[in-house]
Amino acid sequence: MVDQKLQVIPLGGLGEFGMNMTAIRYGDDIIVVDAGMMFPEAELLGVDLVMPDLTFLKENQAQVRAVILTHGHEDHIGAVPYFLTEIDVPVYGTAFTLALVERRMEEYDLEKQPRLIRVKPKQAIGVGPFQIEFIHVTHSIVSAVALAITTPLGVIIHTGDFKVDPTPTDNELFDLHTLADYGKRGVLLLLSDSTNADRPGYTESERAVRPRMEEVFSRADRRVVVSCFSSSIHRIQLVLDLAREYGRRVAVVGRSMVSVTEIAHSLGLLDIPDGILLRPQDAMNQDPSKVAILISGTQGEPMSALARVAVDNHKHISVGKGDTVVLSARIIPGNEKPIFRMIDHMARRGADVMYGSMNPPLHVSGHASVEEQKLVLNLCRPKYFMPIHGEFRQLSKHARLAEHLRFAGLEETFIMDTGEILELDSHGARKSGKVPCGRVCIDSGSVDDVVQEMVIRDRRHLSEDGIVLPIIAINRRSGRMESAPEIVSRGFAVAEDGTAIMDNARQIVARTLEGSNDEEKTDWGVMKEKIRADLKRYIVKETSRRPLIMPVILEV
Ligand SMILES: [Zn+2]
Ligand SMILES: [Zn+2]
Repeated sequence: MVDQKLQVIPLGGLGEFGMNMTAIRYGDDIIVVDAGMMFPEAELLGVDLVMPDLTFLKENQAQVRAVILTHGHEDHIGAVPYFLTEIDVPVYGTAFTLALVERRMEEYDLEKQPRLIRVKPKQAIGVGPFQIEFIHVTHSIVSAVALAITTPLGVIIHTGDFKVDPTPTDNELFDLHTLADYGKRGVLLLLSDSTNADRPGYTESERAVRPRMEEVFSRADRRVVVSCFSSSIHRIQLVLDLAREYGRRVAVVGRSMVSVTEIAHSLGLLDIPDGILLRPQDAMNQDPSKVAILISGTQGEPMSALARVAVDNHKHISVGKGDTVVLSARIIPGNEKPIFRMIDHMARRGADVMYGSMNPPLHVSGHASVEEQKLVLNLCRPKYFMPIHGEFRQLSKHARLAEHLRFAGLEETFIMDTGEILELDSHGARKSGKVPCGRVCIDSGSVDDVVQEMVIRDRRHLSEDGIVLPIIAINRRSGRMESAPEIVSRGFAVAEDGTAIMDNARQIVARTLEGSNDEEKTDWGVMKEKIRADLKRYIVKETSRRPLIMPVILEV
């Protein structure tokens, strides 16, 4: 039995931020830990979602037994629906994690009902030759777990994402005892979260956000608008608690904010004080000093609720002079432009916008800093260590940290690339080759059009359906269109009435521009996204093709 090899293969999330996924194989059985997605970078404009390449798993489909989820962040669960359309296996996770998976699943047409199996911390399950115990950890999302995976060759600990918060707001402590028990009995391999390996000290407790928020609530004499990630249940609870203490009612605004708060409430993870909720459509007719608004869109996503509010194009909510807007989230690198543009819009309307790092903080990280990483290394005392979840510089810092600790028993540290195989057997551990890996870009339809069919846009696809470039010349000062929009296309051949389609497409672009208010027109990010969504809807309907659409706005 023990002469079989154990393989650990990261299929995403190493050397890149997002789409975390790891395959663990013993003999003919594979389990997959997490299946996350990544948000496209600017250079992937025109693509909606990025998922890990499943080629390796599809080639070994008959061996894949289950997907095991650590927590509900998109970079860990976002690819689950896509995964299940390709490989149908049971998915294990905590109730909250699976509820978030189900919410994503609604956007897909799956042939079969997914098999989602709820687990609780301290519970253990058997999958093929693996015994998997779920260990509660603290993180910026509730119901996060680490995994202790017992294999015939020894125990693998996979931390998932974590920080060691000694005072979590829900009082659910990191189960360090169980981790230490495994450490005492011997851990073969530790895979641990490296995100903050370049941050010394300890990450602040989630409670550290309260003083700053309290100050906002006590000082504001008009509306308080708080934006955070919709999955930050701790943060949402804090806003609800402060609103009650300071006599404000709360409107929950934005699709993801509404659905995730409902899920958390239904699972007993969010305590919503009686009578505190306000319908978004009523928020503006109340005394502004009695209103708080919880809204999604911290990253300036062009179609998000907060971005719409910023350009005064939201159905129910607007911000104005004297309102306080709090961005209680990290500015994810790469998103600075849209975020700062959104802040500028709101500042121009006279709102006091609070963002970025300050002391006391508006936001704290959900990931362990160096001292916490040391603690986990010391408790597990693994024979082998593989830093995961981070760019190369963080992985290598984390590896060096483990080596400096010099605890007894550490034999080797492996900094892996996505796709590399770590092979373990009775003789030791070593890198042994590579499996196919990479990214798959998915075009999920426009943001508010829920996905009906999934189209995978690889290069071949792009060359089949071509590219469409609407070119719009806008006067810098007036924001007005200088001439009729031009449309250039390459490789996008349309049959008979091609000219008619291009004429209509031009008109659609013109109509989208006319239908936008002045503030939107000065915001290229918003305009490009609107034009792209409208044009795509038309082209898909008329031609059933999905060319890449990249609006170009020329200032003249
Ligand atoms: Zn993560
Ligand atoms: Zn996370």
